[in-house]
Amino acid sequence: MNQVKRAWRDLAVFGGQPAFDEPLHVGRPNIGSRRQFFQQIEDILDRRQLSNDGPYVQSFERELSQLTGVKHCVAVSNATVGLEIAIRALGLTGEVIAPSMTFVATAHALQWLGITPVFCDIDPQTMNLDPTQVEVLITPQTSGIVGVHLWGRPCATEALADIARRHNLKLLYDAAHAVGCSYKGQMIGNFGDAEVFSFHATKVCNALEGGIIATHDDALAGRLRRMRNFGFMSTDNVVEEGTNGKMNEISAAMGLTSLAKLDSFIAENYFNYKTYERDLADIPGVTLTLYNEGEKNNYHYIVLQVDEKQTGISRDQLILLLFAENVLARRYFYPGCHRMEPYRTLQPDAGLRLPYTESLVERTLCLPTGTAVSPTDIQKICQIIRFAVENAASIRAQLLHNTTILPTSIYESGDQTNCQTTAAHLQQFRQPHQK
Ligand SMILES: *Cc1c(COP(=O)(O)O)cnc(C)c1O
Repeated sequence: MNQVKRAWRDLAVFGGQPAFDEPLHVGRPNIGSRRQFFQQIEDILDRRQLSNDGPYVQSFERELSQLTGVKHCVAVSNATVGLEIAIRALGLTGEVIAPSMTFVATAHALQWLGITPVFCDIDPQTMNLDPTQVEVLITPQTSGIVGVHLWGRPCATEALADIARRHNLKLLYDAAHAVGCSYKGQMIGNFGDAEVFSFHATKVCNALEGGIIATHDDALAGRLRRMRNFGFMSTDNVVEEGTNGKMNEISAAMGLTSLAKLDSFIAENYFNYKTYERDLADIPGVTLTLYNEGEKNNYHYIVLQVDEKQTGISRDQLILLLFAENVLARRYFYPGCHRMEPYRTLQPDAGLRLPYTESLVERTLCLPTGTAVSPTDIQKICQIIRFAVENAASIRAQLLHNTTILPTSIYESGDQTNCQTTAAHLQQFRQPHQK
């Protein structure tokens, strides 16, 4: 039994026993009914239709339409390709205003198509695009806005729609996090010209890999369907440019099994969220990012903000301690797209207009949740965080003493969406660091 921490020496980072024998990940996949999945795979193999708008893809699209109330849901191979196809189909060019506080795919989808992502700061309240700042950044080259419903918390859709209308801009949403979420009672998917959901393995509802582009626009939907299939209108008849963005049948089958369990995944996430909320209460300087419980949320991201002035321990030091305990917390979305390549080189001054983004990326930390994490695990995680803050001074002194422990070293390899952490990462924390 892994014991409770009583002194700084008990922390695994200083050679104590890790609180968890097995690593707890952020974004460990939720898995639905294996039976249903395997039966569907048998059926797919029997039919020998593996891709090209097969019955499982069509059924996945129908279920998404039902969930969101959006007329057209176009399945694609992943959300990044979905964004690229939507950006192309909407005719975006030149400059597009987007947040930097997002996963890099939002910016890359634009850049990949030769469009400049113009990074806009966030509203510190919503942590999403600040509409006032969006308007300031509009130039004659601006063709559109891409909003991101970060962590499934909705953008200020009315204000963005108003700006888009007045300036004749297209409005697209990266809704990768927002499956099952609503804003003012309306499901995400219904806003802007189109919205793109992700069904990547780490998201609340997965299709192994996958995406859905949702739109009410008939003409746009036709275009999206052709563009995901090389521009084919019908057999031998290519009418425009296109790519291969098709979802395959096995992914659709996985997506259907995940959707069948979405309510229970969300119920578990909600229970976890409330456990975190209860057990993190009153820790000075540690704030859980709240969801508006009057809306539908998927509660898939447990986002803490660490105010070092109050905690006495930095966000990165806290992550270091948690990693050693086998709690693989993540810094979503550090350091912000504008500080990643190629944007850092192409737009070296972007940070000057992103004060809230730059401050938020230094404070946030995401903790494990989902069906692979139990409420007991969460109680233990919160105990460690509480212990770390209560003993911040001695921990900090010890960390400074142990110069071999560098907070950033844990991030030297591994990517943002991949929840697998290498054994080497963990190994370096298992070694006792005491002198
Ligand atoms: C995961 C994610 C994407 C990319 O989705 P894929 O389906 O993996 O391509 C895009 N934007 C955001 C905000 C994401 O978190």
